[in-house]
Parts: sequence; C-alpha cells; structure tokens
Amino acid sequence: MADYDLVIKGGNLVIPNVGVQKADIGIKGEKIAAIAQTIPITNSTHIVDASGRHVFPGAIDSHFHVGIYRPFEDDATSESTSAASGGVTTILSYFRTGQSYLNKMGPYKQILPELLELSKNSFLTDYGYHLALFTDEHIGEIEWLVKEGGVSTLKYYMFYKLLNLAGSSPDALNYLMIDNPVDLGFLYKFMKEVSRVNDLFKEYGKISLSIHCENPETIRVTNAEAKKNPTGNPLKDYSDARPPWQEELAIYEVGVMADNTNCPVNLLHLSSQKAVEAGKDVSSRYSHIDFLLEGTLHHLCLSDDMDLGPLAKVNPPIRNREDVEFLWNSVFDGTIKTVVSDHACATKEIKKGDLWTSLPGFGGTALMFPVLITEGYHKRGLPLHRIAELSAANPARYHNLYPKKGAMMVGSDADFAIVDINEEKEVTLKNLFTAQDFNPEEGMKLKGWTEYTILRGKVIFEKGDIIGKPGAGEFIKRPVKFHYR
Ligand SMILES: [Zn+2]
Repeated sequence: MADYDLVIKGGNLVIPNVGVQKADIGIKGEKIAAIAQTIPITNSTHIVDASGRHVFPGAIDSHFHVGIYRPFEDDATSESTSAASGGVTTILSYFRTGQSYLNKMGPYKQILPELLELSKNSFLTDYGYHLALFTDEHIGEIEWLVKEGGVSTLKYYMFYKLLNLAGSSPDALNYLMIDNPVDLGFLYKFMKEVSRVNDLFKEYGKISLSIHCENPETIRVTNAEAKKNPTGNPLKDYSDARPPWQEELAIYEVGVMADNTNCPVNLLHLSSQKAVEAGKDVSSRYSHIDFLLEGTLHHLCLSDDMDLGPLAKVNPPIRNREDVEFLWNSVFDGTIKTVVSDHACATKEIKKGDLWTSLPGFGGTALMFPVLITEGYHKRGLPLHRIAELSAANPARYHNLYPKKGAMMVGSDADFAIVDINEEKEVTLKNLFTAQDFNPEEGMKLKGWTEYTILRGKVIFEKGDIIGKPGAGEFIKRPVKFHYR
C-alpha cells in the first residue's frame, strides 16, 4: 500500500517566512504528511505534477461578504466557487444581523446555528465567520461565541454610529433592526467585553475586533460638498465625498479607545496614505495593543484616474495613484500584514443608478494571486514568500487558524494553490467563475493564475475546471488551538 494518497511532485514550494524551495509534498488523508527533496511516485495513489509551477499555501481570504446582496446559499456556492478557482481554500466572511444578509435580528445563539445550517451544503472551500454585534444582548454572547460558536473575531461598523441617534431618519433606524444607538459608547462596552474574553482565551489565540474606520459625521458634510461640485470623474468625486482624512480621524478614535480598553483591533481595508499612517501611529503609540493593518486587492490595483465609473464604488473609496503607491510601500515594509478581497458579489442591477444611489462593493476573490503576483512580484519585486505571508500565513495567525491553516508544515491541512506565475490572461468574467456580471478589473492583463487548488488533500480546481462540490467545505471553528486540541 502506498504511503501517501497524493503527492505534489516537482514544484517550487513558496514557504512563508522562509523562501522558495524545490521539494515534493506527500499528503495522507487531509493533512501534509511529508515534505522532502524527492518522494517516489510509486509511493502514492495520486500524483499532481507541479514542475515549473509554484506551490503556495492555500490562500485565506479573510474579508468576504457572503450573502450581502444575493440569496445566502446561492451566493455561498457561486462565490466560494470563484474563490476556489483562484487558489483560495478558506473564506472568512463578515456577517451581520439587520437588513440584507438574512434580514433578521436576534441573539446569535439563535442566528449562528441558522447561518451554519445554510452554510453546511453550500461552500466549496472551508469557511468561518466574523460577526458584527449591535445590541447589549450580542455583547453578552461573546464568550459563548468563542467557546461554543467557534467565532473568535467580531466586527464594529463605525459608519453606522449615527443611526438610531436623535434626528436620524426612521429608515436608517430600521436598517439594523435595533432600537439602541451603536455610537462610540456602544463601541466602548463592546471593546471592554472583547478585551475580557481575549484574556480568557490568551493561551489559544487573539480575540479581536475588526473595525470599518470611516467617520460618518464628517462624511455627511463632505458628501454634500462633493455632490454639489462634481468634477466629471465619478471615482474622484466619491473619494472627495469620503476623503482619506476622515478614515484617519476614525482610526485615531479607535486607537484611543483600544488603548483604554485593551482591545485587539483589526483595522480593515486601509485605502490611503493617511489611513495607513494613522494605523502605524496608533500601533507604535499604543504598542501593548495588537493592531492588524489590512489592505485590499482593489485598493492595490485600481486608482481614481481609471475610467471605471460607479461600478467601482466601494467603501472606503478607490483613491489616487500616490495612495496606491503608498499602500504598496506599506506592503513591502510589513506595515500592511494581510491582503484581502472584501468580496461582495454585486450585479449591475444592484449597482444601478448614479454614483450616489449605486450600492457599494464588488467581488474579486479570484484575483488574489494574479494581483499580488502581477502588481507585487512582477512589477515591484515583492518576493514570492511575502505573497504567501500576506495571503495565507498572516491571515491564519491573526484570525486564529494557525497552524491548521496557512502553514506549510507536516500536520497542517493540505491546502494548496499551484500557480503558474508567468501565465498571462485577460481578466474576463469566465475566468473568475463568479455570479457577478461585471468586474472593475475586466480587460486587464494579469500574470499568475492558479492551475490547481487543493483543499484538505482533495483537488477542487484543475486547469480551468471546477472539481469541488458544494458542501465539501467545512466550517472551521476558531481559535483552532482551542477547538481542535
Ligand atoms: Zn467588507
């Protein structure tokens, strides 16, 4: 009998924090069983030939929005298919109560099991959830969520903090289906409880709070100004409507609050120089607090001088060329530690109307390797092992998946993306395997496409064909060091 179920033969392994090394990988069941210079093919039931290719740890797309604009199960299937086609093997998706998503409010003790039931037969990739909390009852559930629910990362949306305050519109009030404010007072209670639970679980990982940092009070005014003085370039107008300095302001508020509550924070999707500099500043000033600075694929490859129109509307907005270069420098010097898609599958129907009425967000998970390899490795000389850190090892560490995921080590899950770093293709909808009917990157020529995606030892994508089936992906309870002892 063969020692291995699958051997990946002759590839260049891209090992996070190490470099590139030619070696074979032996897989037994769902796990990496051996990494060696040569594993004889006679010793394995199946072989994947990776010669001339680069073998990355399966990417962990740690910012995703399954079900935001489309029926939940359909969206989970179509968009995890897109992820699988791009070498993503684990999705960490944001979920919140209120309108859109499942359109309901209630305790997560009720809603999480419903969410997991809908998820169970839907995903091609492994997955987990970050949950947004909006009530005191939710805050009271954090310890349960970590211990029983397998959810160790939470979310606060700063731009909802004006909702439910005196003078806000009844529509706005209805949006989150709550009757309490979610202002900074709410955030203070939220952070204190995350901090308390983080202490309880410190042996197992970091219980952290992801924050969308945009300041709604100032946006209310800058938005009106931008509407009144259009420049004829919708992306520039939108960036002016939500300027970088209001991200900066929000990050400083969060920094002070994190310091005073001891709450680990994930600063989401930093889009500009001002945002990154503020993130860097609070990280060094409050060095006892763990801040994670996150970047997105679209802020790294799109700029407001591109003729993309309202379809590329996203929060925070697409910025100018100088901001894009600053973000790349911050990736290079290690300030930005994770790169994500913030995938929100949207259709032209959802994006209809003008810049101001069109809904924000779009998908791009399948472009993880093409963007990082084209814009990072080929154009700017970013080493390949750094790409493995940004796309797998760092998200795994910060979101409590390590070392089950994100590690190229014996005993870790056998999740891989086998990539041809020199293959150039045009971005077409067909190449992205998504239900989205447009893509801002459509027509761009990018290098570095995935040839095989392997999830826990099973090939789920092979040379343009989807092999995986919905339901093959598992819910990964986090922290994995607590739940998979
Ligand atoms: Zn998002």
